[in-house]
Amino acid sequence: MTQLSTFLKLTPVYRDYVWGGEKLRPGHYPTAEAWVVWENDIIESGSLAGETLGDVSMQFGEALLGSKAMSRTGMRFPLLIKILDCAQWLSLQVHPNDEQAIELEGAGQFGKTEAWHILESNPDAKLIAGIKPNTSPEALANSIRNGSIVDHVQYADIKQGDTILMPAGTLHALGPGLLVYEVQQTSDWTYRVFDWGRIASNKRPLHIEKSIHVTRADFTAPITRMPDAGDGTRHTLAQCDYFTLEMLSAEANVIALDTQKESFHAVTVIKGKALLKTANDQIELDKFQTAVVPAQVGVYEFCPLGDCRALKASV
Ligand SMILES: [Zn+2]
Repeated sequence: MTQLSTFLKLTPVYRDYVWGGEKLRPGHYPTAEAWVVWENDIIESGSLAGETLGDVSMQFGEALLGSKAMSRTGMRFPLLIKILDCAQWLSLQVHPNDEQAIELEGAGQFGKTEAWHILESNPDAKLIAGIKPNTSPEALANSIRNGSIVDHVQYADIKQGDTILMPAGTLHALGPGLLVYEVQQTSDWTYRVFDWGRIASNKRPLHIEKSIHVTRADFTAPITRMPDAGDGTRHTLAQCDYFTLEMLSAEANVIALDTQKESFHAVTVIKGKALLKTANDQIELDKFQTAVVPAQVGVYEFCPLGDCRALKASV
């Protein structure tokens, strides 16, 4: 049997949705999303080169995923991570939680809790993450049905470094002028509530009644501001039952990390360059490149090559 590599560098898959821009793949307009960690992403190098992350996950199970992920979601890779380049408003949408996904979509389905970390933003950039306080469930349902939902949504001003954790049931949309790192549960279920007058089509249908069923009228997602980060520091940006998201900031100091065999780590460089290193192995990551560190690796190091930052997601 092939051995599990120390670091699995992934080749992202790109999506060219209508609201995309040209930051992720210059020359290919519009490029909306880079799926940097996904079941169907291909491993770039090493003994498992050419295989997908999902196949490797099924092959190696706990050695890759870790004990915590295995106990919750089994052999499937539990997280999906994207970088989104938003040149227009994205559709207003909502996701079911795990129980609702089973109720509405069938056995074996999962809900979606997600978090956004803002990588770049225009000065007037906004997003939507929740419903205005004191909106009644009836008013919410009516406005979703008659297309006036934007009267009830909570707009938020955001800037680079902000993080927003959105539990399932939070109505949300990203606005123009944002480059965003998004981590979420692996799930197929998105209910589109409103598409800013873009024509509903087979590819972009609205899901009115399911949206009404799962949208929380009483919730606005709080924004976490990134603290000033020193050289060689770690900051927790978001934490929930499904994932933990941390910022690694370094210029000269090495950061010691440990999977503790509980969870894989997915490390995405968002500024500069870095090396991931064990006693026997190392890999270099450029901006927006990602490597998955299998849970069995245990202790490893994040070594900056100049001023750099990375986001690390685990379960
Ligand atoms: Zn979403």
